[in-house]
Amino acid sequence: MIEKLVEALFGCRHSRYSFPVTVRRAKRRPQAAALTGTYVVCLDCGKEFAYDWQQMKVITSPERHRERLAELAKHVA
Ligand SMILES: [Zn+2]
Repeated sequence: MIEKLVEALFGCRHSRYSFPVTVRRAKRRPQAAALTGTYVVCLDCGKEFAYDWQQMKVITSPERHRERLAELAKHVA
């Protein structure tokens, strides 16, 4: 209950995640998985985030997202 109130006031801190899920050959991947192919779900608010297996990190911020995307694009090119 208090956690929900804190969420409403300050936004979810996304401190607990599900185990990373890797999506392969799915027709419709969740938006979060489009970047790395792997995503986690926040157990508190249900939001999906891209997960970077190589760095063992959840990609939460849009800035970080763009950074990583640019990095990936370099490898593909
Ligand atoms: Zn959350």
